[in-house]
Amino acid sequence: MKKIIVIPGDGVGKEITQAAQLVLTKVSEKFSLDLTFEEHIAGGAAIDAVGVPLPDETLEACRNGDAILFGAVGGKKWDNVDPSIRPEKALLGIRKAMGLYANLRPVKVFDCLAEKSPLKTELVRGVDMIIVRELVGGIYFGERCESEIKNGVEQAWDTEIYSVPEIERISKLAFESAESRRKKVTSVDKANILATSRLWRKTVANLSKNYSDIELDNLYVDNAAMQLALNPKQFDVIVTSNMFGDILSDEAAVITGSIGMMPSASIGELTSFYEPIHGSAPDIAGLGIANPIGTILSAAMLLRYSLKNESAAQSIENAVDKVLADGLRTPDIYDDGTKKVSTEEMAQAIKDRI
Ligand code: NAD
Repeated sequence: MKKIIVIPGDGVGKEITQAAQLVLTKVSEKFSLDLTFEEHIAGGAAIDAVGVPLPDETLEACRNGDAILFGAVGGKKWDNVDPSIRPEKALLGIRKAMGLYANLRPVKVFDCLAEKSPLKTELVRGVDMIIVRELVGGIYFGERCESEIKNGVEQAWDTEIYSVPEIERISKLAFESAESRRKKVTSVDKANILATSRLWRKTVANLSKNYSDIELDNLYVDNAAMQLALNPKQFDVIVTSNMFGDILSDEAAVITGSIGMMPSASIGELTSFYEPIHGSAPDIAGLGIANPIGTILSAAMLLRYSLKNESAAQSIENAVDKVLADGLRTPDIYDDGTKKVSTEEMAQAIKDRI
C-alpha cells in the first residue's frame, strides 16, 4: 500500500487535487498500485482552522507518507496576516522539513496549444525540456546582512556557498533524467564571474564521466536566458543553481502559454512533493473552471519519481495528449472549434482515456 498525502490548500486547490485523485484512483486500479489518500490542511485554510499555515499534524503526515500531492496556497484574505504566519510559509516549512533539494519542472509545449505561446509558433512547436533546479542551497540560503554602515554608507549583502556534494547530488538527478530523454544536459552557471559557478562547472564535468552516453553543454546564465527565447527546442535537461533556476524556470514556463498545464516535482531526502506551478487562482476559485492538467501531470511525476512506475506515469501523460487531441479545453486554453469543459469534466475525460 502506498499512502499519498493530499494537501489541497486554498483557492482552486480543492478542485484540482480532487481532479488528480480521480485520475490516480483509476491508475491505481489499472496498475494494481493500492494507492490510498489522506487529506490534510495547510496555507490559509490552516490559518483559519488552527492559526498557523503548517500544522504539526500536517507535517507529521508528510513525514509518514510515500509522496505529497499539493494544490496551492494563498489568497487576498490572508495578505495582511503577520508575515511569520503567511500561507506561503507552509511551502517553505515542508520544503525544509522534507529536505526537498531539487525542483524539477518539465516544460512541454503541447502541439495543439503552440499558438498560445507568446513566442512564434514555429519556435515553440516541439519544445520538451526539463529544468532541474537546486533548491536548498546557494544565495537564497547563505549568510546575509540586511543593513550595515561601511565607510559612512549603508550597505547590505548576501553570500552564495555551494559544496561539491550539493552540486553532485543535483547533477546526478539531471544526468539520470537525461538518460530516459534525449540524452543532453545543459549546465547553466556564471563561471566567468563567480567562484561557486567555477566549482559547479568543474564538478558537473567530473560527474559527467560516469554518463558517457550523455552530451554535456555549459552555458552562462545570461546566454541561457537568451537561448530560451531564441531557440528553446535545443534544450533537453537544464541543471542549475537555486537563483538561476528560479528565474529561468519562470521564463521557460511562460513560453508554453498555458500556466494551468505545467506540473512540478520537488525531490527530497525523506519524501517528494508534487504540485502545479500556478498559484491558488482566487479569481476563478469555486467556479469549477480551473485547468486541472498541471496537477494531473504532477500526479504523473509522482508515479515516475516516487513510485518508480514509468508505465503508470506515461498512461496519464498519454491520456492528457488524447483529451487535447480530441479538442477538450478548459476556458483558459479554449479556442473556437474546440469543446469547452469544466475542471471535473476534464478530469473525467482524462480518467476515461487511461
Ligand atoms: P496564480 O497562478 O494563482 O494566477 C495567475 C493567473 O493564472 C490568474 O488569472 C489565474 O486565474 C490563472 N490560473 C492559474 N492557475 C490556473 C488554472 N489551473 N486554470 C486556469 N487558470 C489558472 O497567481 P497569482 O494570482 O499571482 O497568485 C494568487 C495566490 O496564489 C497568491 O496568494 C499567491 O501568493 C499564491 N501563489 C501560491 C503558489 C503556491 O502555492 N505554490 C504559487 C504562486 C502563487
